[in-house]
Amino acid sequence: MGRFTKEIDRAFNSGHTKKLYDGLTALQSAALSQLRTGINKLNGYLHKIHCSDTPLCDCDCNLVETVQHFLFACPRWVEQRRLMRIAHGEAWGDLSTALGGKDRRSTREDDKEEWRPNRENVLATINFAIATGRLASKASTSTTSPTSSTSS
Ligand SMILES: [Zn+2]
Repeated sequence: MGRFTKEIDRAFNSGHTKKLYDGLTALQSAALSQLRTGINKLNGYLHKIHCSDTPLCDCDCNLVETVQHFLFACPRWVEQRRLMRIAHGEAWGDLSTALGGKDRRSTREDDKEEWRPNRENVLATINFAIATGRLASKASTSTTSPTSSTSS
């Protein structure tokens, strides 16, 4: 599982991803992986893998519980969302920035080398997700598969 999500991340955002995870706790890394890959405990995903009767969120919005809904819209997490909203500032509502990708609204092709993920935004996103407890799973706390990190 851990290896699988890393593969997806690599495809998603190549070189910057490692930096993104540097310094995160296991809990924070797990939360970020779940949000970035979309493989998580939100109903939108659970429904796809036939683990939930409905893809809809438990709130009254009658909307699919996607990562986007969870982070930015769901009325169940207004309280937990407050700090993240302040931290994200101008980038509020941009899923890519929130998860360490580029802000679609300010992308310039020639910025490629300069660009770095907005770590503060990502941390705020992660801490929000953890605060809600919505992504918590029994497996995420214990299993850390040994990764063969060969440094040359
Ligand atoms: Zn909701």
